[in-house]
Amino acid sequence: MGLTLALALERRGVPVRIIDSAATRTDTSKALVLWPRTLEMLDIEGCADRFVNSGIRGTGARLRSDRGELAHMTFGGLDSPFPFPVLIPQSETERILGELLEERGVVVERESTLQEFSSHDDGVHLVITGPDGKEEAVITPWLLACDGAHSTVRRGLGVEFSGTTLDMDFVLADVHLDGDLPDGELSIVLAPEGVVALFPIIGGRFRVVAEIHERPATDDGPTLDAVQGLLDRRVPVPLRAHDLVWASNFRINERKVEAYRHGRVFLAGDAAHIHSPAGGQGMNTGMQDAFNLAWRLSMVARDVAHDELLDGYSVERSAVADMVLRNAGAMTRMTGIRNGMLQRLRNAVIRVAGRRAAFRRRMVEQLSEVDVAYRHGDLSIHTPDQAPGLAPGDRVRDLDIVLPEGTPATLHEALRDGRFLLLSVGCDALEVPPDLRGLAHAAVTAGATRVPAGFVYLIRPDAYLAMSTRPERVECLLTTLSSLSTGQSATTAA
Ligand SMILES: Cc1cc2nc3c(=O)[nH]c(=O)nc-3n(C[C@H](O)[C@H](O)[C@H](O)COP(=O)(O)OP(=O)(O)OC[C@H]3O[C@@H](n4cnc5c(N)ncnc54)[C@H](O)[C@@H]3O)c2cc1C
Repeated sequence: MGLTLALALERRGVPVRIIDSAATRTDTSKALVLWPRTLEMLDIEGCADRFVNSGIRGTGARLRSDRGELAHMTFGGLDSPFPFPVLIPQSETERILGELLEERGVVVERESTLQEFSSHDDGVHLVITGPDGKEEAVITPWLLACDGAHSTVRRGLGVEFSGTTLDMDFVLADVHLDGDLPDGELSIVLAPEGVVALFPIIGGRFRVVAEIHERPATDDGPTLDAVQGLLDRRVPVPLRAHDLVWASNFRINERKVEAYRHGRVFLAGDAAHIHSPAGGQGMNTGMQDAFNLAWRLSMVARDVAHDELLDGYSVERSAVADMVLRNAGAMTRMTGIRNGMLQRLRNAVIRVAGRRAAFRRRMVEQLSEVDVAYRHGDLSIHTPDQAPGLAPGDRVRDLDIVLPEGTPATLHEALRDGRFLLLSVGCDALEVPPDLRGLAHAAVTAGATRVPAGFVYLIRPDAYLAMSTRPERVECLLTTLSSLSTGQSATTAA
């Protein structure tokens, strides 16, 4: 999370310093999936290929009971340049992010711990201890707390991490599995004894996650024999587990802060929200926090936008975390049903729903996070003449465009410099007034699915639509842009 934020800021010309109390980066697999929306964001950062080439492409997810298949979802039909999740251990994701940062001359300062901080008019005053134990005093304009679920910064702010710990126990194990399991597919078995999920990892490895009904005596995780026992009892196809790589137990916390912004201090990732791993959204949600904060902060840091732009980060990302907590919580509770009759009813409902293409598409869009939208965001502005189909706050799918010099590009490529894009679709190109060129640039395209011709679209640096209108009313888009630098509310300006 901190690595993603540092990379996105550094790319936009904001100098960063990144400290980590850990001596080395994680060597455990933890989050296993980069979902398509995260890949799209990494594409805007110009580095998605590095992740795609280092993982395996997920093809789908299959839900079964002990009596057979309940639902089978595939990612192939997803409307994205990345119609697949990339299955890649978090240790690899962090390695690649670390390398990308090092290529830009940023090295994580390890064994450096934030001890205390306080906000002042001239910035945030920090006390950091380095590997030699010596204290260093630092003043920084902004402190971005990506310090995990036990966040020192969140505690220092005195912010409540409200929520609950679920009364459910889980085991996880990374093992090698022999047996008839489709490549690149996630399998979830809703067995009468309890759920077991199998996620492919690189190199023939699988993550096995299962709910257990007895509190483990130690935190060591299950033995290989215990994993084999779970598979034998719960999975309806024969599987042989061998070469245990990593095992652990866990309980699920569902917690979130109310506000992500506290003056010059921002919370992001697990420091702001934690939830069930069902759906594999934790790290992805954190990385998308990073992209949202990075483009806003870079505009304020470059002095082209007013500090008010930073408030929208909390509003938008807090609403997304609320949704993720709800969905992941519902999935977890649904898999944890113990009553036999309710289990049969649940399975029957999933089997019926799973036959419906609309249900499968909805599930795939939710997992892929391409359905994340900011319709109630600070920059989602309705106009009387807005384009039909694509609402303010909706994701704009990558599309082919032409830059003013006649250079062909994709939307994602055009957004790489961190500015808004004024996209004329099926109408004449606009010229951005000189005083707004730090905030936006212009391009044209003939039109695309869900982006009807005859309109001008104001697209945010993270590829969400801010607003659209007819070319003759483009003044309201420019007024909105201009309001970003003055701090006058964008909604009022329109
Ligand atoms: C077993 C497991 C499985 C998971 N599976 C998935 C999954 O499938 N999909 C998914 O999306 N997510 C998954 N997650 C969640 C995912 O791992 C987290 O959401 C992600 O790591 C959060 O990143 P973060 O940077 O916010 O926090 P962390 O990864 O916890 O990083 C916080 C960093 O801050 C450092 N730090 C803490 N305090 C200080 C301090 N005072 N000074 C300096 N440094 C400090 C720590 O050393 C650490 O490096 C899983 C997590 C676990 C544990």
